[in-house]
Amino acid sequence: MSWRIPIGPAIEGPAAITGRVIHAIIEQIEMTYLKDLREKIPWFPTIDAGECRADLQCVNFCPHDVFEWNPRTGRPMVAHPLRCLPGCQICLEMCDTGAISLPTKEQFRAYMKKLRGTAKKTQSLPTL
Ligand code: SF4
Repeated sequence: MSWRIPIGPAIEGPAAITGRVIHAIIEQIEMTYLKDLREKIPWFPTIDAGECRADLQCVNFCPHDVFEWNPRTGRPMVAHPLRCLPGCQICLEMCDTGAISLPTKEQFRAYMKKLRGTAKKTQSLPTL
């Protein structure tokens, strides 16, 4: 009669499973924290409907899928503003008619400075 050592199940014991559960909880906390932080940053594009010629450059270009085609108006719309990457301004260059606006980098810096000041008071955000 031969005995086999169950290597796989031994590795996947209670400690490993507990470790994976703790890791998943930490990831969830980090995602919630980042989502809360992103919601505090007013950085996203707006589209001037009068200037937009609906050529879909923004919809096709944005790597974060901020824009979507609006079949009701026949124009692009800012469908997911919080997906916009704070500090990014690439779509300004892609739009030939200049229909897209974003906060300026100076406005962004001023807002981040204010946010860090608030964080120091509440200790809820790390300093950058
Ligand atoms: S600024 Fe960047 S991330 Fe934001 S909508 Fe424009 S291309 Fe997308």
